[in-house]
Amino acid sequence: MLISMIELMKKAREGHYCVPAIAVENEHSVRAAIKAAEEKRSPLIMISLFKVNPDICYFGRIVTDLAIRAGVPVAMCQDHGGTYEEAIWAIRAGFTDVMADRSTLSFEENIAQVSEIVRIAHAVGVGVEAELGHVGIATNYEVDGTSGFTVPAEAVEYVERTGVDALAVAIGTAHGVYKGVPKLQFELLRELREKVPVPLVLHGGSGTGEENLKRACRMGICKLNISNDLKRGAIGNLNENCKDGMGAYAMYPLLFEGYKNVAAGYMDLCGSAGKA
Ligand SMILES: [Zn+2]
Repeated sequence: MLISMIELMKKAREGHYCVPAIAVENEHSVRAAIKAAEEKRSPLIMISLFKVNPDICYFGRIVTDLAIRAGVPVAMCQDHGGTYEEAIWAIRAGFTDVMADRSTLSFEENIAQVSEIVRIAHAVGVGVEAELGHVGIATNYEVDGTSGFTVPAEAVEYVERTGVDALAVAIGTAHGVYKGVPKLQFELLRELREKVPVPLVLHGGSGTGEENLKRACRMGICKLNISNDLKRGAIGNLNENCKDGMGAYAMYPLLFEGYKNVAAGYMDLCGSAGKA
């Protein structure tokens, strides 16, 4: 069943669990993500960057067809849409939701651009996630205590003025590969969860550590974005089974299996297993 991620996140918020958002890039990864969700009886959110799939209407046909046939609820969200045009393409491709990321712009400019996308998306029943504060790149990442974190009062005003359905917050995670284990700002998360009326999203889930993530999911994160760990799981499984070269013939099934297992592990960690 194809469904907006906003519905899935609202249920997660009420039920105190989180839905992993699995990065997909092609038919194989979409099938692996759906298979993991079906085996775990978990709702599923899939995410994809426009730059990975610029032929987005074709990709959208694959995704929506497989999602409609899935035995669990599945949402498809554009990840980090950076322009007005990207959002329009995602809507046209049949994505259920878009993320409009203007987190590097000023507060007012972020509000102005995202509000425009919210108006268009909501006109056709598409949900919108935006980001306030900025989740950076892990390799450039240094914790200095405050820089880039989401400010609760600003988040409240931002949600009210833009009308976004979900908010990605910066509480200490980063995209990519960390140098160590990041230190998350749980007090800040608690305050955001109390004050912000829409479900919260955490980007940069890969490598953040099981304890950190379990705690964040319990404390009100309703969507956890995962990308790097899935790819490493897929590559690792291929390498392990391809030492004599013969495994190369099973390249796609091995990548599929590795990808699926990591996705399934995150469904257990997030508490979404058994919730579909
Ligand atoms: Zn992200």
